Order: sequence, then C-alpha cells, then structure tokens
Amino acid sequence: MSQANGHDDRTFPLSSAEEASGASEPSETHLLETTHMPDPRAPDALAHTRVRARAFALTRALERIETALARLDLEQKVRLLTGSGFWRTAAEPAIGLREMVLCDGPAGVRGERFDEREPSASLPCPTALAASWDEDLVERLGALLAAEARAKGVDVVLGPTVNLQRSPYAGRHFECYSEDPLLAGRIGAALVRGIQAGGVAATVKHYTANDSETERYSVDVRMSERALHEVHLAPFEEIVRAGGAWALMAAYNSVDGVTMTEHPLLETPLRTEWGFDGLVVSDWFATRSTEGAGRAGLDLAMPGPGPDAPWGAALVAAVRAGRVPEEAVDRKVRHLLLLAARVGALPGVLPAPAGPVGAGPDPAALLREAAAAGTVLLRDTGTALPLDPGTLRRVAVLGPNADAPRIQGGGSATVIPPYAISPLAGLRAALGPQVEVTHAVGARIRHRLPPVTAADVCDPKTGEPGLRVRFLGPDGSVLHEELRGGGRLLWLDDPIVARATAIEASGVLAVREDGPHRIGVAGVGRFRLLADGIPVVDDDLATDDPLGGILTPPEGWAVLDLKADQRLDLHLRHDFAADRPGTGFVLGVDRPMGAEDDELARAVALAAQSEVAVVVVGSTEESDSEGRDRETLSLPGRQDELIHRVAAANPNTVVVVNSGSPVLLPWRDEVAAILVSWFPGQEFGAALADVLLGEVEPGGRLPMTWPATESDPAILSTVPVAGRLDYTEGIHIGHRGWLRAGSTPAYPFGHGLGWTTWDYPALETAAAGGDFIADVTVRNTGERPGRQVLQAYLSRRDGTIERPIIRLAAHTTVSALPGKEVTTRIHIPAKAFQHWTPEGPQTEPGTYVLHVGPSSADLPLTATLNIRA
Ligand code: BGC
Repeated sequence: MSQANGHDDRTFPLSSAEEASGASEPSETHLLETTHMPDPRAPDALAHTRVRARAFALTRALERIETALARLDLEQKVRLLTGSGFWRTAAEPAIGLREMVLCDGPAGVRGERFDEREPSASLPCPTALAASWDEDLVERLGALLAAEARAKGVDVVLGPTVNLQRSPYAGRHFECYSEDPLLAGRIGAALVRGIQAGGVAATVKHYTANDSETERYSVDVRMSERALHEVHLAPFEEIVRAGGAWALMAAYNSVDGVTMTEHPLLETPLRTEWGFDGLVVSDWFATRSTEGAGRAGLDLAMPGPGPDAPWGAALVAAVRAGRVPEEAVDRKVRHLLLLAARVGALPGVLPAPAGPVGAGPDPAALLREAAAAGTVLLRDTGTALPLDPGTLRRVAVLGPNADAPRIQGGGSATVIPPYAISPLAGLRAALGPQVEVTHAVGARIRHRLPPVTAADVCDPKTGEPGLRVRFLGPDGSVLHEELRGGGRLLWLDDPIVARATAIEASGVLAVREDGPHRIGVAGVGRFRLLADGIPVVDDDLATDDPLGGILTPPEGWAVLDLKADQRLDLHLRHDFAADRPGTGFVLGVDRPMGAEDDELARAVALAAQSEVAVVVVGSTEESDSEGRDRETLSLPGRQDELIHRVAAANPNTVVVVNSGSPVLLPWRDEVAAILVSWFPGQEFGAALADVLLGEVEPGGRLPMTWPATESDPAILSTVPVAGRLDYTEGIHIGHRGWLRAGSTPAYPFGHGLGWTTWDYPALETAAAGGDFIADVTVRNTGERPGRQVLQAYLSRRDGTIERPIIRLAAHTTVSALPGKEVTTRIHIPAKAFQHWTPEGPQTEPGTYVLHVGPSSADLPLTATLNIRA
C-alpha cells in the first residue's frame, strides 16, 4: 500500500471514508465484537491512531446499523437476505437502503450487462498475477478493478479466488493464484486492498476447499484438520486478518460432510478467531436449505428471488415456528447493512466511499505491464532471444493461438474486452515494416462454434454491420429491437426478456471462402435456425448443469458447403416460457480450414524460411474453464507434433505457451526458448512483443510446479470416489508434495529466467522480536539490468512435528544494474515457523534452516535460525 493514500501495509482501509470520518474523533470507545482490534505491533504511533480512528468510525456505524435494524419487521429483514435478481440485492426504502450490484469477477469486472456494448478491461488471469510475485502491481490492478466497478455501477466484485492449485487438472486453475497458500494469500490480499481502497467491496472466494470442478456442486472434501487450517484456510486467513475483505463467498462443495453454506467454519475460525465482519454470500445457487443455512453463518443467498430461493417466506415461517432464532436473521442483516454502508448503499452510516479512483494509470499501459510481469521464461538457450528488429529479415509467427489467442479462462471469470491484441498483431507492430512476418495456424484445435462478429454479418434491413435482434411478446408483437455487434448474446435480469417469449437474431453472412462452413447455435432451450430459409437447426438443446447454459452451452449445427462472395440469410429464433428474465445463446459460424496435414507442412516450410520461428500454442475453450476439470495435460490437437517439426526445421524456435495451467512440453529440450504467457488479458500481443524484443524483462516465476509427465505420482487427482475427494496429501500440497515424493518436475515452483544472470554472495540474519530479518546480497552478473524474485524457505530436519521439506516463508523482489551488487531485506515473520494445533498455532523450539534463492530448486544461500523454548 502506498504511503500516499495514508494506509500502512499491515492494515486495510475500511474505506477511506470510514477513516476520514473517524480521524477527526479518535476516542477510547471500545469495539463491538465483530470489529478488528488494533494491531499491537502497529509500526508507529500514527498507524495506531489510524487504527483507533477507524475503529471509532466503525463503532459509530454499527450503532447506526442497529438503529436501522430496529426499524425493520421480520418480513422486511428476511427479504434483504435473498437477491432481488441475478446480480442484485434487495432495497429497503424504509431505511434508505438501495440495491447493491454484485458482479464477477477476478480478472475484470463484467457489470450487469454482459455484452459487447459495455466492454470490460480484461486483466491477466489470476495465475499470471501471482506469477509476477509483485504485490504492488496487483494492488494497482485492484484499483483498476475498482474504477471499472464504479463506472459500471458495481458495488461488490466477486473475487479474488484464493482456492489453491492443488492439481493441474483443475478447471479453474487459471483463476486461482498458486499452489502455495502463502503466495495465494499475499497476492489475494494485495488485490483486495486495491479494490477496497476504491470504495468497492472485494469478495474472497470460494470458502473453502473448492479446488476442482468434478462434481463441483456436491463433492465432499475430506482432509486432516491441520491441512484444512494450515493450508486451505490459510489464504482466507491472511486476507481477513489483514483487515479485509468486506465480503466472502461460501462454496458449493462440502467439507467433512457439511455443505459450505451451512458450515460451522463460517463461524469459527472466520468470525471468532480472525475477526471477519463482512458479508458471507453464497455461491450462485449454493444455498441448500431454509433452516440449516438460516441458522448457519451464511448471510445472503444468491441469486434471487425465484421460486427456488430457499429463504423468503420459508425462512419467515421457520423463525415464527422457533426453528431459526430471529437473532440469526438480525445478525445476517447487520452484516449486509455494514457492507452496504461501506460501499455507499446505505447513506448516513458512513461517509460516501472513495472513488472513482480518478486519473489512475492508463488501463492499457497497466494491463500491458502486468501481462509482461507475469510472463515466465522457462528456458532460454540464448540463441534466439531477445529478437532484434534491426538485424532480422523474416520471422514466422505460427500456431493456432498466434492469431486467435486465448486471453482469458472460461466461466464466471470471463469478461467481454474492448479489444484483444493477438501475438501476431503485436509482433507485426513491434517488428515494423522492415521485418517480414509470416503466419500459419499449423494445427487445428478449436471445436466450439465461434460467435459471428460484426465483420461477418450485417443487418438484413439496413446493411449495417452486426445482427438485428428482436424481442417478441406472447402475441408475436415486437417488444423491442436492437442492433448487436456479434453473435454472443446473454441477458440476465432483463425486463424486456421477462416480457418476451421469443428472441430472433437475423443477419446476412458475407461468405469469404469456398468450402464447408459449420453454422449453428449454442444455448439451452428451443432453437430454430434458418439459412436462406432452409432449417439447419430445429432442436431443443439441454444440459443438467444449472449454470451450463452460461458456461458451456450445448451446440446444434449443420455443415453447409458455401461459395466465396455468397451472401447467406441467417435467421435464428429462440422460444422460451414467459416470465423468464434471462436467456442467452451464441450464433456461430466456423469457416473452412485447409487439410490439417497441409497446414502443418505450410507452418514448417515458413519456419524453415525464417530466421526465427515463434510458435504460439495453447488450450481451447474446452479446457481451463469453470464447470469441468481437464482430462489431459497434453496440448490439444497436433500442437506437439507442430513444435517438434518446426524445431527440427529451425533451431531458433521460440515457443509461447498460452494456457492457464501447466501442459506437457515433450519438445522442451528441442527449442531455443519457452515462455508461458498464461491467459494474459487484452494486451497479450503488445506485452509479448515487449518481452520477445527485450524491451521488458519477463517478470514471471512459476506460482506452481510444472509437471514433466502425466503419470507423476505427485500429481493429485480431482475425481471424487463415491462423492468424496480425499486430500490424502495433507499439508504436502504442490511443491511440498513434489519434494516429498522425490519427483522431478519439468520446472520447479518459483522457477523463471530473465535477461540477465545473478550471483548470491551473502545472507545475514538477525532476530527481531519473534520475527527474523534476513539481509540478502545479490549481484547482477549479466549485461542487462534485471529484476529477481528472491524466495525464502524454511526447513527443519530434526523436529518431532511433521512438516514440509521446505516451506515458503517470505519473498521480495530486487532490481540491479549490470555488475551491481544490491542488499535487500526480507522479513521472516514468526508465523512462518508455526504449525497448527487444535489449541492454536504453536512453534516448535529448535534450529531451523533459512534458504534463500531464485526458485524452490535453487537456494544457494542458507542460514540457521534458532528458536528458543
Ligand atoms: C461461480 C462463482 C461466481 C458465481 C456468479 C458461480 O458459478 O462459482 O465464482 O462468482 O457463479 O457468477
């Protein structure tokens, strides 16, 4: 946290408004039970005064909330506890409470209207943010999210996701930060600070053990108490104890047989030990009962209202019958009102929150910086990179993701960006007109129908680019019509859709090539698609997944043989029942592709004719998505074959892996360099060009272990057995498990190269209270300025307590000019030595070894640290 906005880095702002309100009236007022106690270790008197001032403001706010609560009857209170729509909470005019808008998510703010007319800045995926190991950068990205949220009228951002990357098969791996609980917690806390400093609530999710997608609504996760507290709750604890977040989401899954929206963990440790005073919101449709959830720590059931919502009248009846105490309802409402006060939805309780964040950084520049900062250079023989546009004449940019990259993962973390720069476009722009850039796809990997774009279709009436969309009432009258910029259409909580019973989308497709085109629709419900008046789809499309219609809707399509310059009238009609406020579908056209063998041969030929071949490979929408785990770690299609053959044709082959989670790299010793870009957001191509041309150092270090083979025993399964998923690894998650198994990954946790080399001449340590400080001296031994991520791990050989072979204790970054030596300080907190016990955290006295270096497998500096009994 920067000094400029007046917060030290150990505490979160309640909001700058709360601080402002209290700053003028500091007092000894003691706190109500749900507030945070001042941190006795606060570094200076000023910080202590701030903490007291904030506590005072909060105390006053809680008193005002009590007054508001007392004005509500049971029905009014219960009404507040279920959403008034898909993304909204209910208003209560009697106390001046307006609706609040909650929207996804962790890599951009969708807003309620999830369409191309209100695009959202697309951030690098959370894994890429963690790969930067840069909390300051992530905090700045949080500020960008807050600004976007304010601009879209969003009060609560549904992120960050701080579940752990327990297995590379996990579908939402890209949406989580790390396999390491400390790194996940630190990066998550930075994002929360950034969002909330802008007066917008962050929602830390999904509490807890929601680390994979198979049977995600029902899986019962089992693990030891110690693993639960020390590993899976740890990122949540890190964020909550630091003073945020204002909201937390209870997950779909169960832990130890109890579904998370009813779990005692919502009380202890969350509120009792960590002091959480925010709102607990259910994951969407995760509230399973009226009474169980009513008595438990869940505050808000989302979405709503709908006949399936488990609270409402049923909860009122349960309270009246004495099966749920009214005090439980009151508590929930208090939490909701405090959140409302914090985001400015309940005026008069706290002064208006900070923001809009103002003339912050240019989103494009920040997103470009962030994408480069998360890019990991896994391998570099030094022969091909950085690219020098002054000497190069011809570069082949190959691979399926070069021109059609994947900038983000699938599911609720997806946003509609204003634009996306492809690697091909980014490299063409950066290399300039002197360098000939050629391109071939090389391998076909996409299978889902791509939505038509405004470049493909035009309005049949006016000829304007786009699709004409009409909403029809039950009597066939046109309720509304609009021109849309593409074939991905989604309406949630839409008043016009609520009155309609059919939607029609029509456009004239401009055919560009001869050949077989796949034309169809993806969605749930009744669809009839006509092409030049002939039915190509006439079907009821269905899925069992309640969110499947949004996540991965089923498809219906036909293949039509078309001719270049042909114009094809497309007319899609979607019928649905009345009073349905939301629906959506994709109208898609897949253009013909040449025979795959020919495409591959063309790519290899271009590589052979070029000085450098950059091959951008990656995953498709079928993997790295919410709702399902991955089935294989291999790159889809014939991408491995493409790289083997390109590498054989050109020794200067650089591979860019555009994937949200680890993939197998069976060609990794054959190529000159490998970079992992993850899902880097809308600035992908520009950031990649910055890195490849050496304008910027690839800043990333792996936030997870990268496996070499699929069969490695250190890779954990995500498949429940009889509904149960046992975390038999206990506390040995991620790199800890790899070390314990003695398995050698392709690349270890923390690994990543830059444009220079380093020496590690010295480490000096000293005790500082219960903590330690480590002064680390590094020397840049290369010829370019560089930045290194220094990682500090602890080990203990002789203890009686089971522990990881090494445990990440702290990290910092250091920059140095060529030939320069720099000393930096790493703070090793007392809690890095602690292990969880039912009686609370404990530290086993004795000798620990501190290891410092640039990756978990390269720790050249060591020192012993003694903890006395
Ligand atoms: C996801 C959440 C998301 C919610 C609302 C759920 O399916 O698990 O992460 O915030 O939907 O979109």
